[in-house]
Amino acid sequence: MLETEIVVKVSEGLHARPATQFAKLAKEFSCSLRIFRGTTSADAKSAVKLMLLGIKQDDQILLRADGSDESVALNRLLAFLSEPSAGVQPAKPALAQEASAPGAAGSLAGSAEPAAPGAVQSVRGVPASEGLACGEAFVYLPEALRATRQFIEPHEVATELGRFSVAFAGSIAALDQQFKTMGCHEDIVEALADVAQSDEFSGAVKQRIASGWDAAAATLQVGEELAASFLAMDDEYLRSRADDIHGITRQVALRLLGMEDVSLACLSRPCVVLAADLSALDFARAQVANIVGLVCTKGSATSHLAIMARSHGIPAVLGLPVDEAVLRGATRVALDGAQGQVWLDPSPDVEAGFATRIAQEKSRHAALSVYRDVEPVTRDGRHVEIAANLGSLAEIDAAHEAGAMGVGLFRTELLFMDRRTMPDEDEQAGIYTQLAQAFHPRPVVIRTLDVGGDKPVPGIAFPEEDNPFLGWRGVRMCLDRPDVFVPQLRALLRAATLGNVQVMIPMIDDVDEVRRVKALIATCAEALTREGVAWGQPKLGIMVETPAAALTADLLAQEVDFFSIGTNDLTQYVMAVDRMNPDLASLYRTDHPAVLRAIGMVCEAAKKAGIPVAVCGEAAARPEMIPLFIGMGVSELSMSPSSVLRAKKIVCEL
Ligand code: PEP
Ligand code: MG
Repeated sequence: MLETEIVVKVSEGLHARPATQFAKLAKEFSCSLRIFRGTTSADAKSAVKLMLLGIKQDDQILLRADGSDESVALNRLLAFLSEPSAGVQPAKPALAQEASAPGAAGSLAGSAEPAAPGAVQSVRGVPASEGLACGEAFVYLPEALRATRQFIEPHEVATELGRFSVAFAGSIAALDQQFKTMGCHEDIVEALADVAQSDEFSGAVKQRIASGWDAAAATLQVGEELAASFLAMDDEYLRSRADDIHGITRQVALRLLGMEDVSLACLSRPCVVLAADLSALDFARAQVANIVGLVCTKGSATSHLAIMARSHGIPAVLGLPVDEAVLRGATRVALDGAQGQVWLDPSPDVEAGFATRIAQEKSRHAALSVYRDVEPVTRDGRHVEIAANLGSLAEIDAAHEAGAMGVGLFRTELLFMDRRTMPDEDEQAGIYTQLAQAFHPRPVVIRTLDVGGDKPVPGIAFPEEDNPFLGWRGVRMCLDRPDVFVPQLRALLRAATLGNVQVMIPMIDDVDEVRRVKALIATCAEALTREGVAWGQPKLGIMVETPAAALTADLLAQEVDFFSIGTNDLTQYVMAVDRMNPDLASLYRTDHPAVLRAIGMVCEAAKKAGIPVAVCGEAAARPEMIPLFIGMGVSELSMSPSSVLRAKKIVCEL
């Protein structure tokens, strides 16, 4: 028997992919192999057991080998563990999270509003994305699965084992197909398949069937238990792997129960989607062109769900206070996204009214297309830039079609979320360069990573916080994590060779934070020069979205090239109103005098310092706010592509 202690250097730790590859390598040897970490240990040939050990980079472990080929096995595995890039593949989009289980919604009682004359009762939620929609309902509320029985007769064991094997193989093949369609790398499927084929999953299901359980009941129970083991881990990223287990469990159980799952990928005709919530991944998989409207029981006007709906131009009402059972029963829906009003199973009168209004809206929109190439100027000669807020390269076409004059906010966090590994410097440089090329010579303002404790990102372990919105997020996290921040800054400098890339820092509170970012950028630039890599000097700006930044805007203006006011956060922090809470929607007011005074101070400071000021929060697109912002000195408004044409028209008429 041989054993050696080693400090693990694999940069991802033994997470899904590296653990799979490590176990695969270990299986090449006949000796037994075991890894010890602290007081726990695992069979090195089981990827799932390795993942459950939660081994991270720089953890000290002991590797034990026992058998004829122990020496060569130990050497090969130690070499794997000492290599930072071991098991790490170029990053790819995320994987099969099962449609998230819908959460409980409020009750309908007391929330129905008196409707327009002649209409059936409507329900009011949060106006999240304006526009009208009326049509067939597509209920996207995946049901919790239940086995029809728990136990079987002894003579049924062989049949149930066979049924499980067929369902299992079919699920793995379907998963493979799905990932191929999504353009994901095979190694993700391999990692998932490895989990599924492990003793902990398929082995345990078979054991349970052999002891007299029904195949579906055994699958659901084992999946739940295994997911719970992942959920109990202290690493946020590993915890979120429980979704993968739920995903596989659900796929196998559906086949065993002879059921089909609801999926937005198979929306074959235009429908209004009714859901509890939609993730970025749901959107990525959906036939978005067939979503004509969206109604969710969760979400608020400035939640990322609302932002995605707006950027796709889908009318949406979120935070609808109805029970899921009520949504499930609906067959047709009408909604007014601007008013936040929803009619479930509307009367023929309501439907007829909507048909007329939708036709009018279409012709109004068609009339707006004349503004596509217009450079808007107010009647007193003020030029105003109308730019687009984007979160992915897929939205570039919509921004061009709307005549956006560049990008005023590119939210890079969407590149980091809902995937298994962080995008590395090269991948980021490629994306930022594509963005810059698509809009050249117009500016693209790229915001550095703005994530916080409420959204998991692979490779960043966020602490549990009582108030994640007041916590370790945005630039605070980035300055503490140069391993995350430096690759992003280097990628931005590399993309800036075209000259139109501008870098924007979120959640700035203090002048010192800006200076530290500037020093880091200078260090990155020196390193790139030393390495002979081409780079450009981007303009540097900050989001003004905390009261501290607004109150010290005069000091911050000395440090940067531009300001962009993030009214979504500025409103929540000035008003002390959680932007995500639909119940507080009436208190969340960007037009409150307190918020307007803060914006006025920022504009004044920018004017004195001679730097431009933009607004990139959702209020930038609100028709009644646009004259106020321009009056205060704002020279750029950045918004979802679907609002750009109207904003241009409003500016031209001022
Ligand atoms: C804002 O806070 O106004 C903003 C644009 O940023 P986000 O909505 O991404 O927080
Ligand atoms: Mg913000």
